Amino acid sequence: MYVKKSEKMNYLILVNKENPLKDKLKIDLINVGKKNISEDVYMERTAGLSLIKMLDDVNKLFDNEKVIVNSGYRSLKKQKEILEYYLEKEGNIAYKRVAMPGTSEHHTGLGIDVSIFINGKYEEDPTGNEESLKWLFENSYKYGFILRYPKNKEDIHGYRYEPWHFRYVGSSKLAKEIKDSGLTLDEYILKKVKTLK
Ligand SMILES: [Zn+2]
Repeated sequence: MYVKKSEKMNYLILVNKENPLKDKLKIDLINVGKKNISEDVYMERTAGLSLIKMLDDVNKLFDNEKVIVNSGYRSLKKQKEILEYYLEKEGNIAYKRVAMPGTSEHHTGLGIDVSIFINGKYEEDPTGNEESLKWLFENSYKYGFILRYPKNKEDIHGYRYEPWHFRYVGSSKLAKEIKDSGLTLDEYILKKVKTLK
């Protein structure tokens, strides 16, 4: 596992289809749990510690639901494997569902996909109608997270609605500002850049 001490991490880094990750990021990764009790899941240290707190809190609230980690940091190699897996399984539609290697936000260690156990049943891709997820939509900003791929913004962020993917942005203040703006992270950052010019 590639783990290095982070230099100053840019928590507002934008990685999307138009902005692939050019530099080799040095990310200080920590283990945030296991997928299906077997596969370790990693995140950038600060993001990961916030995530652990957030999941601890939400999992105290709903007796029949438990939010668990599904996928965090993905190396370039892992991104290639995932794309190949879905291309094999679904054909070209996979390009809509899976990021091209190098353009995945998971590469930053700041994105996390969650899954849910509902009444003991495992839901890998939750719908967003779950009580625990609804709580996270409203409260994740307190932990520095935003919902990264919201509904009705598919043409802007370029993915399907992903009620399971949260992104750490560095502080609760910033996360609240982004949430309240109603903008996707892509729009928010572009606006910021324009304002600074
Ligand atoms: Zn994701």
